Amino acid sequence: MTSGTVMMDQMSWPEFRDRIAKNPVVFLPCGATEQHGPHLPLSVDALLSAAVAREVAEEVGGIVAPTLHFGYKSMPKSGGGPFFAGTINLDASTLIAMVRDVIRELVRHGARKVCAIVGHYENQWIVTEGIDLAMRECGHTGLRVMRLEYWDFCTEDTLKKVFPDHFPGVALEHAAVMETSMMLHLYPEMVRLDLIPDHPSADFPPYDMFPPHREWVPSSGALTSAKAATKEKGRIMVEQYRRDIAVAVRKEFKA
Ligand code: ZN
Ligand code: MN
Repeated sequence: MTSGTVMMDQMSWPEFRDRIAKNPVVFLPCGATEQHGPHLPLSVDALLSAAVAREVAEEVGGIVAPTLHFGYKSMPKSGGGPFFAGTINLDASTLIAMVRDVIRELVRHGARKVCAIVGHYENQWIVTEGIDLAMRECGHTGLRVMRLEYWDFCTEDTLKKVFPDHFPGVALEHAAVMETSMMLHLYPEMVRLDLIPDHPSADFPPYDMFPPHREWVPSSGALTSAKAATKEKGRIMVEQYRRDIAVAVRKEFKA
C-alpha cells in the first residue's frame, strides 16, 4: 500500500526504496527564506519552487526531494538584500556543500536522474557549482543532472497575458506580479491582499556597492508594483510551466 504522493518527505522509507528503484527523476527545489514584501510570506521562493516541482513530478512520475529552504544571499537589486527582518542568507560555500551532499545521498540511494528547480534568483550559479561538484564525485555512476530556473520557461504568449502593458524584467519581479499571482493561485490563504504594494519600479544603477545602500531598495521590499497580480495569471503561469518543463524533462531523461 503506497500513499501515492510524489513528495519524498511524506513517504515511508520502504515506499521511497521501492519508488527510487524504478529510477524516476528526483526533483530538488532550491528556495530561500527571504522577505517578499508586506503581502507575501518569507518562504515564497521555497513554496513556488516546490509547487512547480510537484506539478512536473506528477506529470512525469517523479519524486520531489525536500525543499532547500535557505538560499544564497539576497541581493538589493534582485531580492531586496539583507535589510529586511527574516531574510536568512547562506554563504555560497554552505549552499554549494548542501547541494553536493544532497545529490550524493540521493545517488547513494539509487537516483540517477536529478532535476534542480531553482526558485530564488541568487541561487543560480551557487546551485550550479554544487551540481558540478556532485558530478565530479558521482558522474561515474551514470548520474545526470538537469538545472533550471522555472521562470525561464515563461513563453512570449504567457508574458503577454501576465504583462499586457509592460514587463519590468525578471530581476525586478521580486514579490511583484509573477510571484504574487502564482501565490494567489497556489496558496491564496497566504497572500495579504490588503497589503499588496503599488509603487514605481526600483531604479538601480548598473553596479553594486558593499556595504549596500538601503535607500536603493523600496521600503516595501517589493522591487516593483504587484498591483496587477491575479489568481488567473498565476494559473496560466503554473499550467504552462508544468506542461513545458515536463516536455524538457521527458526529452532529457526519457521519463
Ligand atoms: Zn522570490
Ligand atoms: Mn528570491
